[in-house]
Amino acid sequence: MMSAWTLVYEGFDPKQEGPREALCTLGNGHFATRGAAEYAEADGVHYPGTYLAGGYNRLISEINGHIVENEDLVNLPNWLPLTFRIDNGPWFHLANVDIRAYRQELDLQRGILQRTVRFVDAEARQTTVMSRRLVHMRDPHLAAIELTLTAENWSGRIEIKSALNGRVRNTGVARYRALDNQHLNIMDTHQVNGDTIALQARTTQSHLDIAQAARTQLFQGQERLTPDSRLFQNHGYIAQLFRCPITAHTPITVEKVVALYDSRDQGIAECGLAARQAVSRVGRFDDLLRMHELAWAHLWRRFDIDLAGDAPGSEAEHLRIVRLHLFHLLQVASPHVIERDVGVPARGLHGEAYRGHIFWDELFIFPLLNLRLPEITRALLQYRYRRLPEARAAAACAGYRGAMFPWQSGSDGREENQILHLNPRSGRWLPDHTHLQRHVNAAIAYNVWQYYQATRDLEFLSHFGAEMMIEIARFWASIAQYNAALDRYEILGVVGPDEYHTAYPEATTPGLNNNAYTNIMAVWVLGRALEVLALLPEDRCCELRDTLGFMASECERWEEISRKMRVVFHADGMISQFEGYENLQEFDWEGYRRKHGDIQRLDRLLEAEGDTPNRYQCSKQADVLMLFYLFSADELGALFARLGYPFSSATIPRNIAYYMARTSHGSTLSRVVHAWVLARADRTGSWQLFKEALASDVNDVQGGTTAEGIHLGAMAGTVDVLQRCYTGIEIRDDVLYLHPCLPQELTMLHLDMRYCGQSLAVDITSDRLTIRALPGAAQAITICACGVLHRLDVGETKEFRL
Ligand code: BGC
Repeated sequence: MMSAWTLVYEGFDPKQEGPREALCTLGNGHFATRGAAEYAEADGVHYPGTYLAGGYNRLISEINGHIVENEDLVNLPNWLPLTFRIDNGPWFHLANVDIRAYRQELDLQRGILQRTVRFVDAEARQTTVMSRRLVHMRDPHLAAIELTLTAENWSGRIEIKSALNGRVRNTGVARYRALDNQHLNIMDTHQVNGDTIALQARTTQSHLDIAQAARTQLFQGQERLTPDSRLFQNHGYIAQLFRCPITAHTPITVEKVVALYDSRDQGIAECGLAARQAVSRVGRFDDLLRMHELAWAHLWRRFDIDLAGDAPGSEAEHLRIVRLHLFHLLQVASPHVIERDVGVPARGLHGEAYRGHIFWDELFIFPLLNLRLPEITRALLQYRYRRLPEARAAAACAGYRGAMFPWQSGSDGREENQILHLNPRSGRWLPDHTHLQRHVNAAIAYNVWQYYQATRDLEFLSHFGAEMMIEIARFWASIAQYNAALDRYEILGVVGPDEYHTAYPEATTPGLNNNAYTNIMAVWVLGRALEVLALLPEDRCCELRDTLGFMASECERWEEISRKMRVVFHADGMISQFEGYENLQEFDWEGYRRKHGDIQRLDRLLEAEGDTPNRYQCSKQADVLMLFYLFSADELGALFARLGYPFSSATIPRNIAYYMARTSHGSTLSRVVHAWVLARADRTGSWQLFKEALASDVNDVQGGTTAEGIHLGAMAGTVDVLQRCYTGIEIRDDVLYLHPCLPQELTMLHLDMRYCGQSLAVDITSDRLTIRALPGAAQAITICACGVLHRLDVGETKEFRL
């Protein structure tokens, strides 16, 4: 029976193993390890992978005569191997035994992965193997496995093998396998003492040293065993083997504690030494577990959501997935990122898809963190700040001013987008122009502003955020071109969030003109940058003006562009996704669905048929509709008014209906946005899309992508639909707005939040909103509930009828 705190898989299914491994990944923001079994090797079914936050390396490969350079999040030496054999027989392998019971359980509350296998071998011996695993949430360098072996109907000798395996490559994504994937040189393997081994590796290009030390001990109950042991070493692989007798019904427990350090860790002399010391100092598995559980309990206190619905069965299921999403978010964006130079990879630290790169997905992730543990957002925004020089260089190189952040970012912030990508359907390597998604810059500025709105952290804004916003505003002001005939500014040659359209059908160069989302976001950035300049203390403003060589005339230009940016409309007044979208052919959705069934990735299907989505009105994901996701109707109305364009209350539903009918949801982000924008006008439709978005990874709805890493944007985005969308939470002008509108299927929603340093408990039912400001030293806040402003004092509770 699954509770709302567990993810349980009964039975072994090789086809499901990939997504299960990704979904059962354990991590702590410093590193994460996929939920592969301890006895598993990368063999097409299993893919043990361990990834360090920010652990990148570059390799050069040749594809079709092209030299391509890719930066990858490196698959580190596998610390998991812990297996056994009975009486000198073969090492345990699922394929060699008759499996009588198989159960895998991820405990979300305590951060433990547990697997139980009961099997009968060729000698009719029945054995039960139970493993528990953790990646420590309090000490970001530690991980541990406890393996308990029970001989059910036999006695004999058992041999345990505990290894560190450095013979790994990045082969987790089939479409990348033609590229070079050997990122590590093994520098050293050695036995430290009778129960500890160590391995050290160095990445080939980034010269990052990785050290692992593993201590393995055997116990019977509380008694430590002293088994015979021997060492085995072979080219980057080191194992300790322990032999001892085992008697029926008397379990033997093996505990493997592993430390992982790297050369960028702070407060250490050398990573190998640090790893060896760490494993020599820790206690038993249960001792580690106590502080690990406590760290998770503290995280859950800040992040948990509670909900009730009109259908108790499905409500527990929704809650479980919501918690699963929070769990994975916290394993990547954990408090341990605060001291580190890391960003949030779109696919987590859970697999190798997109090579661990960082996209605009932060836009879907940070708002959730802002209202829970904003220190994490602050740290993750610093990842961008540190890469401002690279973004400035990229802008200058492209002939622009300011800073142009890359579409895909990795170690140093240069553009990491692949030059060629493989369409697995056609087998063709194709040029990839999605790097023209300049809108990522608007997302970064939006994230800075949202963080500031939720925290009023003026120090951050003043020292880091403002500089990013000004430099991004400068970029938009320089990419915008004046069209004298129209007396409007235009942005040409870009790609919007809908990656299916990267060029005009007959064009020889990529890029589209006047993508509405990009243009309006640019307007928003220019307006906000002006506001930030007005907000900063005068001395800081002067410093920034001096340092950045900022002229008063720039402000005038920003003012002008932000009033005269062009937005293209269709003849019937619909916002055009980009100039010319209206003239593209309608797409035969029904016919194509009949022909192919699943058409989420119709870009690949069309290309394989020699066609291209560039010819059709078909979108991969929300593009125009992103505007309704990010801005309230009031804010959008103000933006359109600033531009001198009409904006009526009918604009939003008309655009939603139009674009929704033309979207294939080829990105998991898409349903999150659609659920959001429908929340007010079509509550049932919104709830349906929300449920579909919830299913993205647990049901691997894209048919194979979850195995390559979870979709962190969709995971955080779905929780944020509950947190901000159904509650109508908005933060503007020092006011926390609440305007709840729960879907009919939800009868209660409880959230614990933080706003401007104040801890809040929010309870919503269909007819009541209760908000409580917890006692503490924070200031009173202003809330606006159902259209009326109120002051909420520390320790005060206010109730509103809805
Ligand atoms: C989506 C992008 C997203 C990326 C990483 C792509 O499929 O189209 O919007 O940033 O995945 O999640």
